[in-house]
Parts: sequence; C-alpha cells; structure tokens
Amino acid sequence: MTYIIGLTGGIGSGKTTIANLFAELGVPLIDADVVARQVVQKGSPLLSQIVAHFGREILTATGELNRSALREKVFNSESEKNWLNNLLHPAIRREMLVQLQVQTAPYVLFVVPLLIENNLTKLCDRVLVVDVLPDTQLDRASQRDNNKRQLIQQIINTQVSRNERLKVADDVINNDGDFAQTESELRQKVLELHQYYLQLSEKKNG
Ligand code: ATP
Repeated sequence: MTYIIGLTGGIGSGKTTIANLFAELGVPLIDADVVARQVVQKGSPLLSQIVAHFGREILTATGELNRSALREKVFNSESEKNWLNNLLHPAIRREMLVQLQVQTAPYVLFVVPLLIENNLTKLCDRVLVVDVLPDTQLDRASQRDNNKRQLIQQIINTQVSRNERLKVADDVINNDGDFAQTESELRQKVLELHQYYLQLSEKKNG
C-alpha cells in the first residue's frame, strides 16, 4: 500500500505551491480541490442529483456546474449547505480512495485543505503542514482572489486554528518568506522531506 502524506494548511498558506515542488520530483498528487471538480463534471451522476435538487439554474449554458450560482443557493441556508456537503463529501472521499488504490509510487501527497476539519488525518500515515502567519494568509489569499480581507478572515475563522493544525503536524514547512527569496530553501526542504518519505515508505512496505 502506498505511503500517504496528508498535506494541509489554511487558506492561502501555499499548499498548491509546495505540492507542485513535490510533483516536480515525480511525486503523485491527489488534490481534494481537483477531485471535487471531477466528481461534478458535466454528465456526472452527482451533477444530475444537484440539478434535480436546485434546478437547472445552477448550470452554465454549456451544461457545466456554475459554481457561483450554486454558492448563492446554499449561502444563506444551513440545511441546503448540509444537503450539498452530505452529497459531495462522501463522493470526494470515495474518488480520492479510488485514485489512491491505483497508485504504484512509493508515496503520494494527499492535498486536502480541510484534512483536519474533516477528520481525514486517519487516512494518512503522516501529516505535513504548510504554515504561515494569519497576516500572510490574509495578504496572499485576498490578492490572489481579489477578495476583501474581511471575507478571507471569515474563512480563516471556519478553519482550525494555526495552533491546532501545528499540533497535528508531523512535519512543517514554513512559507512566510517571499518565494523569490526562499525558493531554493523551500526546494531543499522539500527534497529532504522527499528523501525521508521514501525511506519511511520503504520501511512500511519492506
Ligand atoms: P487555497 O487553499 O486558498 O487554495 P493554497 O494553500 O493552495 O491556497 P497557494 O494557492 O499555493 O495556496 O498560494 C496562495 C497564493 O499565494 C497564490 O497566489 C500563490 O502564488 C501565493 N504564494 C504562495 N506561496 C508564496 C510565497 N512563498 N511567496 C509569495 N507568494 C506565494
């Protein structure tokens, strides 16, 4: 069985940035955000169920899921949000497990923003946290998405706190420094962890 590293971190912490450095070393990624899009792709049974529940107005003209229309539908309703989460979460989890089962690499990165919140750490052999200060999260996420800092703060408040996340971490990569200055340091850290994870996976399977 492939060794599983859960990679997590708060909004805007740099999970994708760090995951891509591992991918450059040939490590397969199973990314919850990517899987979340795959399970509701055009023509999928899940998308049909969502349309049956919310109506065709949550589709674009070409039959894809219109995410902002769906967000509006659930924005003010806990019960609709729960209905959607109860449909999506098990499907995302199932699909991630399917993708995991076909892996032959020594280890994979499970990139999951809400790994701790959704209790998915139990699927992982080890947890790697990308850690930044809340101010860095606010700066980077608001710049990237052109969102107000207040909205990003609201999202941060729904996620586990930095301390709680660090308590669960087996390994931590700090990503506060500006990438232009810290790139070679980050690459070195990723390479060290990569070698360590290869050793651990050998132990597990050896
Ligand atoms: P989310 O969970 O919000 O999708 P994430 O944790 O995957 O985010 P990234 O998308 O990797 O985070 O990074 C958030 C933003 O910050 C991106 O615009 C990215 O280019 C930028 N960023 C990430 N790391 C650094 C860094 N070290 N220096 C400067 N910018 C960075």
